[in-house]
Amino acid sequence: MTIITRFAPSPTGYLHVGGARTALFSYLFARKNKGKFILRIEDTDRERSTQESVDAIFEGMKWLGLEHDGEVPYQTKRFPQYKVKVQQLLDEGKAYYCTCSKERLDEMRDAQMKAGGKPRYDGKCRDLNLPNSDDAVVRFRNPQEGEVTFDDYVRGVITTSNKELDDLIIARPDGTPTYNFTVVIDDIDMNISHVIRGDDHINNTPRQINIYKALGADLPRFAHLPMILGDDGARLSKRHGAVGVMEYANNGYLPEAVLNYLVRLGWSYEDKELFTKDEMIELFDLKKVNKAPSAFNTSKLNWINQQYIQQADSQRLAGLLKKRLDVLNVNVPESIDLVKVVDMFKSRAVTINEMADSALFLFSDIKEYEEKAVKKVFKQSAIKPFETLIKKMSTVEDWANANLHDLIEDTVNELEVGFGKVGQPLRVALTGSSSGPANDEIMQVLGQQESIKRTENALVFLLEKLKAQGLI
Ligand code: GLU
Repeated sequence: MTIITRFAPSPTGYLHVGGARTALFSYLFARKNKGKFILRIEDTDRERSTQESVDAIFEGMKWLGLEHDGEVPYQTKRFPQYKVKVQQLLDEGKAYYCTCSKERLDEMRDAQMKAGGKPRYDGKCRDLNLPNSDDAVVRFRNPQEGEVTFDDYVRGVITTSNKELDDLIIARPDGTPTYNFTVVIDDIDMNISHVIRGDDHINNTPRQINIYKALGADLPRFAHLPMILGDDGARLSKRHGAVGVMEYANNGYLPEAVLNYLVRLGWSYEDKELFTKDEMIELFDLKKVNKAPSAFNTSKLNWINQQYIQQADSQRLAGLLKKRLDVLNVNVPESIDLVKVVDMFKSRAVTINEMADSALFLFSDIKEYEEKAVKKVFKQSAIKPFETLIKKMSTVEDWANANLHDLIEDTVNELEVGFGKVGQPLRVALTGSSSGPANDEIMQVLGQQESIKRTENALVFLLEKLKAQGLI
């Protein structure tokens, strides 16, 4: 049997974390079994579906590297086929026209709810053999006896009595089909062998199985994935921050990190945390998907992203950093090599955006020194270190290959002071603050001229400050 899975989003918003996780699991299962993975756009809800959302779904899938096979079917292009199938069920007496008014249905629902029961259609039109009319819907004639059973990969055996299911509307008065019908027709026509989807659909499955049976089709296997919760235990939603996958791209996460994070939402393999895509494909097992909901954990995502940044090619990261700097309207001087900037921050940055923020001081003059740093290091004792450093920096012949650490160490030795007495003022001069990467690395990235200029500016600032205080 060829394994064929599908991801079937309704294009009513961006590709969110839950959808992306469903897509990933369907993708992995197909790839692992050398099968096919179909992306299907379920756009029958014309009011809520937008092209913008279709584009956002494609964009998200592409960013995550979840390639689908073949053409993308759109449900709105398949209306003729649904019509044929509705007619087939009508002809075979497995569906019927119903003209119950909205008022009647509403009243019935209210009364049933008041009596503590579940709202369900009472079957008034079931045996009336009504003809088609402008206000008639088509209902599926659900069996009234027996039960529906299926063995879910995640949830195990689930049995539902047909008595609990009512006669579902499969076509509206204007002839358009409803979700539970189109999804079955599509899954049959596209030979879907495994339906992997969120467990918000689990109550639809017994109804859908009855439609499969009425059409004489083989059943696929089902896997209903548990929902994803936010850090606070409530269902993951916008309230918890970024939920659209492209937001993670914009926030400076790497796609392979997000993918790795998603695969661990409800699935694990021993105590392994980091998986390449090939490893995911090799090790993924639908049977090992957790029944319990999984909780979104931003610090874990951050940790994973950090691991991937450390391993990533610097040239590639430099491209991403450039994009982020463009968004921030930061001009990168030609003298600065972004690959070197990346190498300087790679070992500690959690996201590309954070890397960009930490690197900002490199790209424009320092307009202000951090107050705390000024108090702490801009004292009389910093004059000599600045002067000596400037002198030594100016005599370096080949800056690119110079050992700039030695330059600092020589200054320390010459002045016979502690390392901090030179290193700290220099860092404030170069970065404007008292934290940041190592001075020699910063000087290497800034280049000779800029390093000298910044140190000179700091010296001028210091002398003015001391003069103003009457100290010199
Ligand atoms: N279109 C449905 C949704 O977006 C998914 C249907 C399915 O996977 O069966 O929730």
